[in-house]
Amino acid sequence: MTIFQNTVPESDSTTLNQAMPNAASQVLKGQSTLHLTPKDGILDLIRSIAEKQESSEPFYILDLGVVERLMSQWNSLLPNVKPFFAVKCNPNPSLLLALSSLGASFDCASCGEIMAIQSLGVSSDRILYANACKSVSYIKYAASVGVNLTTFDSRSEIDKLKKWHPKCELLLRIKVDNKTSWREFGSKFGALDDEIMPLLCYAHENGFKVVGVSFHVGTKQSDPKAYYETIARAKAIFNMASELKLPAMQILDIGGGFQACPLFKDIAAEINRGVEAYFCEVKNLSIIAEPGRYFAENAFTLVTNVIGKRVRGSTMEYWIDDGIYGSFNLPAFDRTSMMAKPFFMKDDDGDRNGGSTFKSTVFGPTCDSLDFVLNECELPEMEVGDLLVFQNMGAYTSSAATKFNGFNMQGFPTYVTYRNPN
Ligand SMILES: *Cc1c(COP(=O)(O)O)cnc(C)c1O
Repeated sequence: MTIFQNTVPESDSTTLNQAMPNAASQVLKGQSTLHLTPKDGILDLIRSIAEKQESSEPFYILDLGVVERLMSQWNSLLPNVKPFFAVKCNPNPSLLLALSSLGASFDCASCGEIMAIQSLGVSSDRILYANACKSVSYIKYAASVGVNLTTFDSRSEIDKLKKWHPKCELLLRIKVDNKTSWREFGSKFGALDDEIMPLLCYAHENGFKVVGVSFHVGTKQSDPKAYYETIARAKAIFNMASELKLPAMQILDIGGGFQACPLFKDIAAEINRGVEAYFCEVKNLSIIAEPGRYFAENAFTLVTNVIGKRVRGSTMEYWIDDGIYGSFNLPAFDRTSMMAKPFFMKDDDGDRNGGSTFKSTVFGPTCDSLDFVLNECELPEMEVGDLLVFQNMGAYTSSAATKFNGFNMQGFPTYVTYRNPN
């Protein structure tokens, strides 16, 4: 699988060249670079792309300035925690390359994700195979390319690994009850309290080194204490390992669940407090995390086209060319953070109907009656040919698009820009 085309970008293409030499050094297949400066407004950018399109189709804009700013926020608030970006959240190659050049490592859950990361030139020791249940063929692949750290929460995983990847080091994934997260992970993932000791022993008997503990407190965790409390539980497992005379544990994996919002400061403070309280005496400790949404959500803007309109009394109904079988597909995708803004293709239309808004419904293009994007929201009146722009569309969106009903909503072009973080 090749992701890159090794072409050199045109010399004046973006300010990205100065800011992120590695990210800019390759032009990505199926993606486009733009001739922009940071002072160009996003709307000018959208207009210039839309006008150049041969036939209208949705597109994404990825702002690497946002990614850079989030990485520097991460480094200043969690200086001791190494981020492993959760690739499933958004495997866009430009995003992955930028994160790699900013020093991130990667959480992969499948063979395809491992290959995508390797094709960036990232070494295997920067990949965590963070899937507690792996098929035999994927385990064999991981072994063949030297991805030597994975998670587990069952005996059967040990049995498979013993046969196909006996040198792999292990993190025990523990179950977290996440009542305060928006989407919890505990019902499917993680060892129960009374399974932990037998699993540690079973792994040891089979020649494996369990190097640490991993958890995920649920996506969009709103209670900073959830991290503190689970860090305390992880320490109890470190203690259990030393009481059982197993090799000392060294890796604390605090998972994902973060959002790039003001709450992140409080969450970081609780994590630091937890590490200080429970882990300050652990020798050679590495703390890692698996942020997905944090780095991806705010970096992407989606631009769709209004392709149909129906007026019903005072309600406006529109069709756009993306929907729940496209970027609005995954249940992990959260409509509360997306922001919809109409964009009128003709300048003089900016003030249609004196700026008044109407109760509006927005449908996706397929013939499934569930294919709604927005229901009863207030929007200015739009016409066929206008654009509907959605901000904060980088998390669990394009990564889950389908071709249902003959609408190919996979692989919409992504235009990469770098807007000054300040
Ligand atoms: C999906 C996932 C993540 C990322 O979660 P976010 O809520 O996007 O931060 C991290 N770790 C694992 C194991 C996951 O499955």
